[in-house]
Amino acid sequence: MKVIQFTQTGGPDVLTLTDLPTPSPKAGDVLVRHTAIGINYIDTYHRTGLYPVPLPYVPGSEGAGVIEKLGEGVTDLTVGQRVAYVMQPGAYAEYSSVPADKLVLIPDGMTDQQAAAVLLQGMTAHYLAFTTYPIRPGDTVLIHAGAGGVGLLLTQIARMRGARVITTVSIEEKAQLSRENGADEVILYTQTDFADEVKRLTGGQGVHAVYDSVGKTTFEGSLNCLKPVGMMVSFGNASGAVPPFAPALLASKGSLMFTRPSLAHYILTRSALLERATTLFNWVVEGKLTVHIQPTYALADAAQAHRDLEARKTTGKLLLIP
Ligand code: NDP
Repeated sequence: MKVIQFTQTGGPDVLTLTDLPTPSPKAGDVLVRHTAIGINYIDTYHRTGLYPVPLPYVPGSEGAGVIEKLGEGVTDLTVGQRVAYVMQPGAYAEYSSVPADKLVLIPDGMTDQQAAAVLLQGMTAHYLAFTTYPIRPGDTVLIHAGAGGVGLLLTQIARMRGARVITTVSIEEKAQLSRENGADEVILYTQTDFADEVKRLTGGQGVHAVYDSVGKTTFEGSLNCLKPVGMMVSFGNASGAVPPFAPALLASKGSLMFTRPSLAHYILTRSALLERATTLFNWVVEGKLTVHIQPTYALADAAQAHRDLEARKTTGKLLLIP
């Protein structure tokens, strides 16, 4: 089968199209023939070595497709069912062998592409808004990279929770998309000091929570946007990792709360995975949540997709089609 693999970490050029044997599902696994593969920013962290992985490595943590073969002991699924999964390595491939208990069924009324586009980023937006900092009606929250994959979904979900949403984006075209997805205020953080602007927009009060996936370049400014005892949710490193800081910094900026969450810990059990996935899928099928899919890329063009993502050229979700 065709896969994208890297044998050393580095820039997008290390992503190489190659042939590997199609896996045989081991006991408890299911062989999935991918029809759509989700690209996520974490794939770039694996590629660069920011998050170390064993080499050689087939990247990708999210896929959707059709069950091709059942491993021994799998009795509750059948060949031909449409399924999706997240947080399993090796998705940049035509096939993947996935533990049966990590799969979710794709409902009628949802395409495979929608499933691969919403599952990882959507469950992230869900746990951030419902669990990490449970947004209350009337809260004001700041969401960085508001036109990105997570950003567009988190903005819509924060609005469902009753928040006033302020987002940041780099260019006017992204600002427009962010507004269309529910942002009340959009700040071009490439042109304006976003912390000053947030203070102005909140009458000097600050926001209840900041959802910061940009990391290094926004960390300090994000702390300056918060109300006393506000919640700083640092959940990504698109601009680089947040450097170490002293806990006393949080006291000096208003007894702030700080957390660095990861999706894996919010879907640890099968019931947590199903609860979040089912909620999301229902929202999409019922038209309550819109998933924005960029023009898709062929599997062989994974390197170009990474280039575009890291150059901040993209909005919404990027998919690879095998
Ligand atoms: P996005 O589509 O949001 O792409 C990243 C965006 O970050 C860019 O489009 C860009 O938006 C912004 N950005 C700001 N500074 C930079 C920079 N120096 N280089 C590149 N991009 C920059 O990606 P995803 O939706 O896939 O992921 C968003 C973030 O969420 C990532 O940091 C990812 O790691 C994190 N994440 C964390 C999870 C968790 O559980 N902790 C799970 C899923 C995602 P703009 O041009 O508007 O500035």
